[in-house]
Amino acid sequence: MQILKVVCPECNSLNCITIQNNNEPIPCSQCQADLDDPFPLEVTDETCTSNINENDIAVLVDFYSTTCGPCMSMYDDYEDAALGFALKVRFLKINADKHQEVAKKYGVSSLPTIIAFKNGEEVNRVTNPLSQVQLSLWADSLL
Ligand SMILES: [Zn+2]
Repeated sequence: MQILKVVCPECNSLNCITIQNNNEPIPCSQCQADLDDPFPLEVTDETCTSNINENDIAVLVDFYSTTCGPCMSMYDDYEDAALGFALKVRFLKINADKHQEVAKKYGVSSLPTIIAFKNGEEVNRVTNPLSQVQLSLWADSLL
């Protein structure tokens, strides 16, 4: 049996879960939100940091700005790619205009920047918009 530590997308609390193969939703022990909701999660500096550091699953962070055309062009692709990675890769989005701490910490100097993390460590990054296929292949490589 595989035990995974997963940060709740709703309340940011850390859950220890066992992966079952019955495809039933796995509720958060604190707030009952679905931990296996694959939808990209909009984070702040605080919740971004806990997701990067505490998740056992890999984390992708899309640093974007609403005034950045290339960032916005990737919006749907990022969402579509995320749907295939429930409880495998957590897709995060952070508005780098509003939340600058994490962007500073990781030296993000252009948008979009997408960084992959595993166990709190940066694995690699990309600084141009990616298609759904490219994002899916990248997420696959993190499993
Ligand atoms: Zn929760």
